[in-house]
Parts: sequence; structure tokens; C-alpha cells
Amino acid sequence: MLNSKEMQPRGSSADPDAYDLTRPEPLQSALFFETPIEIYARVLQELKPRTPLPEIRVEFRRYANANSSIRLESGLLTVKIADVLEGAPAPILESLAYILLGKLYRKTVPGAYERRYRLYLNRRDMRQKLNLMRQIRGRKFVSGPEGAHRNLEEIFERLNHDFFDGLLGRPQLGWSRLPSRCMLGHFDPSHNVIVISRIFDDSKKPLLALEYVMFHEMLHLRFPVDHHGLRRRVHTREFRQAERTFPRLAEAKELLKKL
Ligand SMILES: [Zn+2]
Repeated sequence: MLNSKEMQPRGSSADPDAYDLTRPEPLQSALFFETPIEIYARVLQELKPRTPLPEIRVEFRRYANANSSIRLESGLLTVKIADVLEGAPAPILESLAYILLGKLYRKTVPGAYERRYRLYLNRRDMRQKLNLMRQIRGRKFVSGPEGAHRNLEEIFERLNHDFFDGLLGRPQLGWSRLPSRCMLGHFDPSHNVIVISRIFDDSKKPLLALEYVMFHEMLHLRFPVDHHGLRRRVHTREFRQAERTFPRLAEAKELLKKL
């Protein structure tokens, strides 16, 4: 992804996604014989001991993602959980119960629940499952490569020839719906598509700037994201090194600031 934030100097602040995974797990585990409804009832009683239990309904829904939601309406608590989590171990469903009920009742819950939940979603097998679900269930509208003034296919193939020995498989190429200034380009690996901001479909905008954005996204194709526990290293050192081979890099970055 290339957004305007990347034009700023890189800070050295700690990665908020990084967790210390070496500490022993301080939390109790869910009892394994509990049904999802029983888990929600127990966690709710723990968070709101004086509140009478509402009727609880837990549904697993066919989603293209791992989103879940909770709603309390006329005494009925409805929890909708993405079916990708249907076979999740009880401690994961318990963690999600803490997260959702905490949100609903504005109660702070121990951060370890959220960490445990996110760590599970970030597991390799879960990521693969989610990618597959997105591909099968999610539909993503992508315009064709041909814009009003510029053709992304031509630009892709020229860069592919010049910098990648023509070896990159061409993904779907499209223009964003709106001429975004903050999201200049984006590579979506689950749909295998590069989307370029419509702002570049303009013969008055410098071609070099567009070429650089395309080159950057093509590097994402070349260097897949390196998953490290909860940390996603999107721009690895080898990515940055390869990016520096782009001729007139500094000039191109300057142009992006003045779009
Ligand atoms: Zn990027």
C-alpha cells in the first residue's frame, strides 16, 4: 500500500501490534463443555453481576470475513459470529465474548483476551481460510485497466519488462472509484488486484509519479507480506532495497507530495 503517510519520515515508535508472546497466559480458560450461549451467559454475569440475564442467541453466519457483532434489543442479546470461527477452540470464543460484551456494556476487559483472539486470527491456517473465503464469497468491483487518459496495463507491462524481466504475473488492474490523494495505490493479495488512485488518470499529472506508485505496488506482488506473529512486515528491508533501484526515485516522491 502506498499512502501519503509513507511520504513522511518513518518514525521509530513501537509497533502497536507487537505483543510479548513469551509471557505465560494469565487468563483462565473457558470450560470446554460450555456451549457458545453458556460462554456468553457466564462472561456477561462476570462483567455485569447485577444485571438479569437476557435471552441469548448466538448465530454463526456465512461472511466473507471474520467480523462479528452483538446487539441487545428488547431483552434479546443477539451475537453474530463469522462461521470461519465456528470450529474455534473454546478459549477463542470466550475471548471474543469478552471483547463483544465489553464493547456492548462499555466495560474494560483485560487486553489479553483481545491479544489471544487476534493471535488466533493471525495464524497461518486461519489467514489462508480467510483469504479463500474472501475470494469465494467476497465480490470486489474492479474497474478495467483502461482509464480515460491512461492505461494501467501498458504501464504495468512496461515496468514488468524494465524491472522484473517480464516475470511478474499480471494481476487484475483497476482504477479507484474516487481520485483519492491519500490512498495512491493498493495491492490486495486476496483478490490479486492492484488498484491505482483515479487521480493519476489525468494527462496533466506527471507519468513518473504514476509509474512510481505502480512500481511500488508491483514490489508488493514480488515480495509477499512477511507475517511474524501479530506483526505484519509489509515493507521489508529487501522491499526497500528493491524500491531504491527505481530511477529518479527522489523526483517521483517529490511529485507525489505536489499532486
Ligand atoms: Zn506499500
